[in-house]
Amino acid sequence: MRFLPVFLDLQTGPILLVGAGELVRAKLRLLLAAGARIRWYATDGNRDTSGLDAEGVARIVHESGDPLVADLSGVIAVLCAGAGELGHAMAARTKAAGFPVNVMDELAHSTFIFPAIVDRGDVVVAIGTGGSAPVLARRVREKIESVLPARIGDLAGFIGRWRKPISGGLPEMALRRRFWERVVDGPIGALVLAGRGEEAEQAIKDITDPVAFAGVPSSRAPEGHVSLVGAGPGDPDLLTIKALRALQDADVVFYDELVSPEILDRIRRDASRVPVGRRVGKPGIGQDAVNALLVEAAKAGQRAVRLKGGDCFVFGRGGEEISALREAGVAYSVIPGITAGLGAAAQFEVPLTYRHEALRITFLTAHKAGDAAAVDWGTLTDDKMTVVVYMGMTAASAIRAGLLAAGRSPRTPVGVFARVTRPDARAAVGVLEDLPALVARIESGPAILIIGDVVAHSAPWRASQINHLASELLVAAE
Ligand code: SAH
Repeated sequence: MRFLPVFLDLQTGPILLVGAGELVRAKLRLLLAAGARIRWYATDGNRDTSGLDAEGVARIVHESGDPLVADLSGVIAVLCAGAGELGHAMAARTKAAGFPVNVMDELAHSTFIFPAIVDRGDVVVAIGTGGSAPVLARRVREKIESVLPARIGDLAGFIGRWRKPISGGLPEMALRRRFWERVVDGPIGALVLAGRGEEAEQAIKDITDPVAFAGVPSSRAPEGHVSLVGAGPGDPDLLTIKALRALQDADVVFYDELVSPEILDRIRRDASRVPVGRRVGKPGIGQDAVNALLVEAAKAGQRAVRLKGGDCFVFGRGGEEISALREAGVAYSVIPGITAGLGAAAQFEVPLTYRHEALRITFLTAHKAGDAAAVDWGTLTDDKMTVVVYMGMTAASAIRAGLLAAGRSPRTPVGVFARVTRPDARAAVGVLEDLPALVARIESGPAILIIGDVVAHSAPWRASQINHLASELLVAAE
């Protein structure tokens, strides 16, 4: 580590800024947002501050003349951006005077560098790579952004406001630490993070005996909680930020077989993982048993996650689970996921609706031929309706028969999209009369079937047309 991260108090003096162009404006934005006062030498004479926040602009003092002879007294740091040779000379002068200086993108002339920043109010995370790999720093920042709750800065502010009044009643350091751990990990912290600041204020006011509050050995809220989390179709980068957070906070995760190993990798290392799903041909433990496990975990004070492929409320039995949780009086929340149909549409560029061509979408399931018999195909006659079928591989013939009987054209474009968003994703496109053959071409599922004119706009359809054309041309040439 060559650069030590420290936090500069911008209240103690101005920053001297030398430079011009877009680079200097980016730095102005950053510094003003952080509350800095700035003495600015605009080296090209352009002092335009349009687009910057007016309140911040009031903290800029426009300097003129030669920055190399500027009075540096009281200045807390010097910054050069887009100043060319003048920046180098300024850096030499500043170093000689013993002030910290940064020349943007020029490590050799700088005594400090800017990190990538995660800014959540009072909670600030600085990420550095010694100036060598800013792109990498940005990637790390994205990862940190995704796991930090949005309101963590509010929580820091809340604790900051209450620290003094509470400390008076807690003489010992260890007690104080336990008190704040209980606030951060318990219901009060959860209220602040959920944006319910007033209730949190009330809850902390209601603590009549802070020593007793701090004295409870467990820092964890006694009440458990179940999160129903949609894991999306497979690509872990398609998890929502909330889903990722739930996985990182979990004590126990009950997951379905459809959830990909890459997603299971995102679960907190110490959490227990319990497979509860069924696979084609293999029974799972049954829905009642799953419900019972969720209730039992929450009642034992655990943070349980019920993790499912796609979305919990699309052929995911999430409805039954929340009924059981409601009945048992267990706290729960639902975090949506990207359902496989939408994953397929995005990956293979199937616009599920299309002006004038596709005005409605139906999601249906036809697991076995028997299920297909239960579908009222008569409701699917509309040519302007895109039909998305889940669990439709084995019933492909029955689906074709049903749609043809409903009057859909045998030439209706269809696509079979397997293992979507995973590394081994595959697509087969064609027309309705060939649906069983297309399904047969896909070796293994899970797969989504999409039926409707919109499939003709998809990427694999366009590719197949080009191939078709190419082979026709080839034949013609021969
Ligand atoms: N709740 C899930 C659906 C569960 S039903 C969701 O919202 O996606 C299981 C069916 O989902 C499978 O038979 C298949 O039709 C579809 N499916 C799930 N993951 C898939 C994937 N990665 N690629 C294609 N289809 C998938």
